[in-house]
Amino acid sequence: MDFKEYVRNIPDFPEKGVYFKDITPLLQDAHALSAAKEALLKMLGNQKIDKVVGMESRGFFFAPMLAVDLGAGFVPVRKPGKLPFDKIRETYTLEYGEDVLEIHSDAISKGDKVLVHDDVLATGGTASAVCKLIERLGGEVVQCNFLLELQFLKGHEKLKGYTIASLMKF
Ligand code: AMP
Repeated sequence: MDFKEYVRNIPDFPEKGVYFKDITPLLQDAHALSAAKEALLKMLGNQKIDKVVGMESRGFFFAPMLAVDLGAGFVPVRKPGKLPFDKIRETYTLEYGEDVLEIHSDAISKGDKVLVHDDVLATGGTASAVCKLIERLGGEVVQCNFLLELQFLKGHEKLKGYTIASLMKF
Protein backbone atom coordinates (compact mmCIF):
# COMPACT_ATOMS: atom_id res chain seq x y z
CA MET A 1 0.00 0.00 0.00
CA ASP A 2 1.28 3.49 -0.84
CA PHE A 3 0.67 5.25 2.46
CA LYS A 4 1.75 8.58 0.99
CA GLU A 5 -1.58 8.71 -0.86
CA TYR A 6 -3.21 9.12 2.54
CA VAL A 7 -1.10 12.06 3.73
CA ARG A 8 -2.32 15.57 2.91
CA ASN A 9 0.06 18.51 2.59
CA ILE A 10 -1.18 21.72 4.15
CA PRO A 11 0.95 24.78 3.41
CA ASP A 12 1.42 27.43 6.10
CA PHE A 13 -0.20 25.46 8.94
CA PRO A 14 -0.14 26.05 11.90
CA GLU A 15 2.04 28.99 10.89
CA LYS A 16 3.59 30.52 7.80
CA GLY A 17 6.47 28.53 6.34
CA VAL A 18 5.42 25.15 7.81
CA TYR A 19 4.36 22.49 5.34
CA PHE A 20 2.09 20.44 7.57
CA LYS A 21 1.69 16.70 6.99
CA ASP A 22 -1.93 15.88 7.76
CA ILE A 23 -2.43 12.18 8.54
CA THR A 24 -6.20 12.36 9.11
CA PRO A 25 -6.96 10.87 5.63
CA LEU A 26 -4.99 7.79 6.73
CA LEU A 27 -6.77 7.65 10.09
CA GLN A 28 -10.24 7.86 8.57
CA ASP A 29 -9.70 5.07 6.03
CA ALA A 30 -10.37 1.70 7.69
CA HIS A 31 -8.02 -0.25 5.43
CA ALA A 32 -5.14 2.27 5.53
CA LEU A 33 -5.46 2.60 9.32
CA SER A 34 -5.16 -1.12 9.86
CA ALA A 35 -2.41 -1.54 7.25
CA ALA A 36 -0.35 1.28 8.81
CA LYS A 37 -0.58 -0.34 12.24
CA GLU A 38 0.52 -3.68 10.82
CA ALA A 39 3.40 -2.05 8.93
CA LEU A 40 4.62 -0.28 12.08
CA LEU A 41 4.59 -3.62 13.92
CA LYS A 42 6.46 -5.29 11.08
CA MET A 43 9.25 -2.68 11.25
CA LEU A 44 9.80 -3.65 14.88
CA GLY A 45 9.99 -7.36 14.17
CA ASN A 46 9.82 -9.88 17.00
CA GLN A 47 11.46 -7.75 19.67
CA LYS A 48 10.05 -7.93 23.17
CA ILE A 49 8.46 -4.65 24.28
CA ASP A 50 7.22 -3.81 27.80
CA LYS A 51 5.97 -0.25 27.16
CA VAL A 52 4.99 1.80 24.16
CA VAL A 53 5.50 5.53 24.78
CA GLY A 54 3.45 7.94 22.65
CA MET A 55 3.90 11.69 22.51
CA GLU A 56 1.08 14.19 22.85
CA SER A 57 -0.87 14.46 20.86
CA ARG A 58 -0.66 12.73 17.51
CA GLY A 59 1.52 9.96 18.94
CA PHE A 60 -1.59 8.91 20.88
CA PHE A 61 -3.37 7.64 17.75
CA PHE A 62 -1.19 4.61 17.10
CA ALA A 63 0.84 4.03 20.28
CA PRO A 64 -2.01 2.37 22.26
CA MET A 65 -2.92 0.17 19.26
CA LEU A 66 0.70 -0.95 18.96
CA ALA A 67 0.82 -1.61 22.71
CA VAL A 68 -2.24 -3.85 22.62
CA ASP A 69 -0.85 -5.93 19.76
CA LEU A 70 2.58 -6.17 21.42
CA GLY A 71 1.15 -7.20 24.78
CA ALA A 72 2.76 -4.06 26.23
CA GLY A 73 1.54 -1.13 28.32
CA PHE A 74 0.93 2.35 26.90
CA VAL A 75 2.59 5.41 28.43
CA PRO A 76 1.65 8.98 27.48
CA VAL A 77 4.28 11.72 27.38
CA ARG A 78 2.49 15.02 27.76
CA LYS A 79 2.90 18.76 27.59
CA PRO A 80 3.44 20.49 30.95
CA GLY A 81 0.65 20.62 33.50
CA LYS A 82 -1.43 17.76 32.04
CA LEU A 83 -0.19 14.75 34.03
CA PRO A 84 -1.67 14.56 37.55
CA PHE A 85 0.84 12.35 39.43
CA ASP A 86 4.58 12.54 40.31
CA LYS A 87 6.49 13.28 37.12
CA ILE A 88 9.83 14.22 35.62
CA ARG A 89 10.37 16.69 32.79
CA GLU A 90 12.77 17.45 29.95
CA THR A 91 13.22 20.87 28.42
CA TYR A 92 14.34 20.93 24.79
CA THR A 93 15.07 23.64 22.28
CA LEU A 94 12.86 24.39 19.30
CA GLU A 95 13.75 26.52 16.31
CA TYR A 96 12.39 29.46 18.29
CA GLY A 97 12.40 29.04 22.06
CA GLU A 98 11.96 25.99 24.27
CA ASP A 99 9.41 23.32 25.03
CA VAL A 100 8.83 20.90 27.89
CA LEU A 101 7.59 17.30 28.03
CA GLU A 102 6.60 15.30 31.10
CA ILE A 103 6.20 11.62 32.00
CA HIS A 104 4.88 10.00 35.18
CA SER A 105 7.74 8.80 37.40
CA ASP A 106 6.20 5.35 37.80
CA ALA A 107 5.44 4.86 34.09
CA ILE A 108 8.67 3.04 33.23
CA SER A 109 10.34 0.38 35.40
CA LYS A 110 14.09 -0.25 35.46
CA GLY A 111 15.01 -2.48 32.54
CA ASP A 112 11.77 -1.94 30.62
CA LYS A 113 12.17 -2.40 26.87
CA VAL A 114 10.48 0.61 25.30
CA LEU A 115 9.13 1.45 21.86
CA VAL A 116 8.77 5.19 21.20
CA HIS A 117 6.12 6.26 18.68
CA ASP A 118 5.11 9.58 17.13
CA ASP A 119 3.40 10.52 13.88
CA VAL A 120 6.16 12.70 12.43
CA LEU A 121 9.94 12.84 12.85
CA ALA A 122 10.95 16.39 12.00
CA THR A 123 14.02 17.88 13.78
CA GLY A 124 14.08 15.01 16.27
CA GLY A 125 13.96 17.36 19.27
CA THR A 126 10.76 15.85 20.62
CA ALA A 127 11.82 12.21 20.22
CA SER A 128 15.24 12.90 21.68
CA ALA A 129 13.67 14.49 24.80
CA VAL A 130 11.35 11.49 25.14
CA CYS A 131 14.27 9.06 24.94
CA LYS A 132 16.01 10.99 27.73
CA LEU A 133 12.91 10.79 29.95
CA ILE A 134 12.70 7.02 29.40
CA GLU A 135 16.39 6.50 30.17
CA ARG A 136 16.25 8.66 33.31
CA LEU A 137 13.60 6.21 34.60
CA GLY A 138 15.82 3.22 33.76
CA GLY A 139 14.14 2.13 30.53
CA GLU A 140 15.87 1.00 27.35
CA VAL A 141 14.70 2.48 24.03
CA VAL A 142 14.49 -0.40 21.56
CA GLN A 143 13.21 1.63 18.59
CA CYS A 144 11.72 5.02 17.75
CA ASN A 145 9.13 4.61 15.05
CA PHE A 146 7.16 7.15 13.08
CA LEU A 147 4.52 7.21 10.39
CA LEU A 148 6.64 9.65 8.45
CA GLU A 149 10.00 11.31 8.46
CA LEU A 150 10.91 14.71 7.02
CA GLN A 151 14.44 13.83 5.98
CA PHE A 152 15.60 17.37 5.18
CA LEU A 153 15.21 18.29 8.88
CA LYS A 154 17.80 15.65 9.82
CA GLY A 155 16.05 14.15 12.82
CA HIS A 156 18.28 11.11 12.38
CA GLU A 157 21.30 13.13 13.45
CA LYS A 158 19.67 14.20 16.71
CA LEU A 159 18.73 10.57 17.40
CA LYS A 160 22.18 9.10 16.77
CA GLY A 161 22.63 5.83 18.62
CA TYR A 162 18.91 4.96 18.47
CA THR A 163 17.19 2.69 15.98
CA ILE A 164 14.83 4.77 13.85
CA ALA A 165 12.10 3.41 11.59
CA SER A 166 9.50 5.27 9.54
CA LEU A 167 6.79 4.10 7.16
CA MET A 168 7.20 7.05 4.80
CA LYS A 169 10.09 9.32 3.97
CA PHE A 170 9.64 12.81 2.50
P1 AMP B 1 10.38 17.53 16.00
O1 AMP B 1 10.88 18.72 15.25
O2 AMP B 1 10.92 16.23 15.44
O3 AMP B 1 10.62 17.66 17.46
O4 AMP B 1 8.81 17.50 15.77
C1 AMP B 1 7.99 18.16 16.65
C2 AMP B 1 6.57 17.63 16.66
O5 AMP B 1 5.84 18.37 15.70
C3 AMP B 1 6.42 16.17 16.37
O6 AMP B 1 5.62 15.60 17.39
C4 AMP B 1 5.73 16.10 15.04
O7 AMP B 1 4.61 15.25 15.13
C5 AMP B 1 5.24 17.52 14.78
N1 AMP B 1 5.61 18.03 13.46
C6 AMP B 1 6.75 18.67 13.12
N2 AMP B 1 6.75 19.05 11.85
C7 AMP B 1 5.57 18.64 11.33
C8 AMP B 1 4.96 18.73 10.02
N3 AMP B 1 5.56 19.33 9.00
N4 AMP B 1 3.75 18.18 9.87
C9 AMP B 1 3.12 17.58 10.89
N5 AMP B 1 3.63 17.48 12.13
C10 AMP B 1 4.84 17.99 12.36
